[in-house]
Amino acid sequence: MKYVEQLPVQGKTVFLRVDFNVPLKDGRVEDDTRIKAALPTIKFLQEKGARIILASHLGRPKGQRKPELSLKPVAQRLAELLGAEVKFCPETVGPLAQQMKKSLGEREVLLLENLRFHPGETGDDEEFARQLAEGIEVYVNDAFGTCHRAHASVHALARLVPLKGAGFLVKKEVENLSRVLKNPAHPYVLIAGGAKVSDKIPVLKNLMSHADKVLVGGAMAYTFLKASGKPVGNSLVEEEMMEEALGIMEEAERKGTEFLLPEDHRCVREISEDAQVKIMEEIEDEWKGVDIGPRTEKLYGEKIRQAAMIVWNGPMGIFEMEPFSGGTVAVAKAVADSPAFSVVGGGDSASAVKKAGVQDRISHISTGGGASLEFLSGKTLPGLEVLEEG
Ligand code: ADP
Ligand code: MG
Repeated sequence: MKYVEQLPVQGKTVFLRVDFNVPLKDGRVEDDTRIKAALPTIKFLQEKGARIILASHLGRPKGQRKPELSLKPVAQRLAELLGAEVKFCPETVGPLAQQMKKSLGEREVLLLENLRFHPGETGDDEEFARQLAEGIEVYVNDAFGTCHRAHASVHALARLVPLKGAGFLVKKEVENLSRVLKNPAHPYVLIAGGAKVSDKIPVLKNLMSHADKVLVGGAMAYTFLKASGKPVGNSLVEEEMMEEALGIMEEAERKGTEFLLPEDHRCVREISEDAQVKIMEEIEDEWKGVDIGPRTEKLYGEKIRQAAMIVWNGPMGIFEMEPFSGGTVAVAKAVADSPAFSVVGGGDSASAVKKAGVQDRISHISTGGGASLEFLSGKTLPGLEVLEEG
């Protein structure tokens, strides 16, 4: 795969697929993290004198024009961040888009309207891709969070442009995520939590070959606990995943991987901020586990602080609610304190790390939710694979 600095972009018309899927509020960008993440590639292209055409999706307009999902506010915010004019085209393809692309000067930036206003985008439609490709000389993908989708702007379009490669954000993601897959350091600790076992099984299975220790938390712990015959009360359990969970624990035993389940839990009767919280080792009937308990926090913290490599996906509890965020915050702090090379994947895990205020002490926080999980599962992502084609 080529990266943007290896492509001949001087004076060329470059299509840059970015991830500007940002939250909007009252017609303004509420969180510009994703816009900032694209700046290094945009600035690089400007310095090289490229003519820059930006395209992104925003929300789920389902192939229809939805004014509230227009990228126009993003163009304004990007202009402020770049300190340069950003032209905005209210169309994604068609005569107006074509004309604005053509009249673009060197170093100028044009943002096209939301790709998903057209059904061809999610349909990976060739005809839509051909319209996007009109007038384009070089294709660059810097939208890591979309690389696991075979959508027209990341897949069919890339096929049509011979000169193509990845931007700096995708490069950073690929390098850091590849490191935990291909260059494991030991002790290697995998922290797995979050809502569902079914979401995480591919990652668990793929990384178990490297991991010396697996620390399980979050709702998925209760499926494992129930499968091992422990009481889980009313906690969230995926009955249909219990067999799979048993299989994973057996595999860990065969491989000599330490597989740890929570030893105590913060439990409530009803999930609400002001619910009475009880710490339990054996969860009683009518109660549900909403966070790991203090003893587990301490145990997991010790393992994490001794690690040389850490992969973390999935919060330890319902961290969005203050009284149940303690376990997740403690794990985040332990990961930050550890000298290990640490990777955090998953949208909620990334916000948990920010909530704990330790994001600067984590080696890599992936910007791709689903994309990072698929990458860590060892799958080839359609948007990356296509960049390797000649
Ligand atoms: P990520 O986005 O990092 O991949 P997930 O989406 O898998 O993580 O999981 C995050 C969600 O899991 C959060 O919304 C959190 O509230 C929920 N969760 C974690 N622990 C529990 C629990 N014990 N009971 C119910 N929900 C939980
Ligand atoms: Mg999530």
